[in-house]
Amino acid sequence: MIIEAKWCGFDYGQCIMEPGGLRNPLLYGDIYKILGKPELIPDKIKKYRVLKEKYGSYGSIKEGHRDEIYSYVLDDDPAAIELFAAKEQELLDMGEGMEDALKFLQEQCIELQVVSEMKKTLGPVGTDIVSRFLKNRGLTKYFKELVTPQGKISLIDDSVDPKYKGHTKKTGTLYDVLAEELLERGIKPSEAVMIGDKPATDINPAHERGFKTIKYTGFIDLGESKADVEISHFSELTQIIKFKKD
Ligand SMILES: [Mg+2]
Repeated sequence: MIIEAKWCGFDYGQCIMEPGGLRNPLLYGDIYKILGKPELIPDKIKKYRVLKEKYGSYGSIKEGHRDEIYSYVLDDDPAAIELFAAKEQELLDMGEGMEDALKFLQEQCIELQVVSEMKKTLGPVGTDIVSRFLKNRGLTKYFKELVTPQGKISLIDDSVDPKYKGHTKKTGTLYDVLAEELLERGIKPSEAVMIGDKPATDINPAHERGFKTIKYTGFIDLGESKADVEISHFSELTQIIKFKKD
C-alpha cells in the first residue's frame, strides 16, 4: 500500500522514543549513590515499584504521572530531579531507522510534526522531556514544532501557540484543531498521515477524522486498530509514503 501525503505526524512515547532503559529501578540506585545517600536506595526502588503497580507500566507513569516520580520517589529534591532528568536523557532510545526515515520524508518535501499527548510540562517550556529529547538528539532538523495538549511548542524559539490547549489526542479534538490548521495551508486530512503506537490516541481518533494512520509496533504492540498500515521498522516508511502532488 502507498500512502500519498503532504504532512506526517509522529507520536513521541514508544514511537520516536523508547523509555526501555528507565524501566530499570537501579537507575534510582545510581542517583542516590551520586548524591552520597546510598542508604535511601532500597526505599526509592520500593516507591518506584509502588508507582509502577499503581499505573501499570512505566509508559503510563511517564505519559501522565511524571510529577509523581518527582514528588513521591524523589521527594521534590532539586538535585535528585536534575540527576533523574540527565540520566533519563542518557537512557532513552530512539526507534531504529527513525533518522533515515525522517531524512527521506523531508527530502520528499513532506511536512513533519511531533504530536504528543504530553499533558503536563514541568518547568519552563522548551525544557520539557519531549523538547529536550528532540533537541539533544538533533531531531530539530526535522521537527520544528511539537503539538500537545499544552499548546503548540516551537522547537526553534520555545514560543507556545495556545490553540491546542486543553485538546487531547484521546478525545480527538486535538486532531480537529490540527485538521483545521492543515486545511488553512491547503492540506486535507486525507493528505496527512499520523504514526504512533497507541490505537486509542494515535490511530482511531485520527482515522475517524479522515487522517491516514500507521501503527508502529517496533517497541510495543497495543493490539487491533483502524490503522491503514502497520509497520515494525521505520525503514518501511520509505516504501509506503510518497509526496502527494496536486
Ligand atoms: Mg505513544
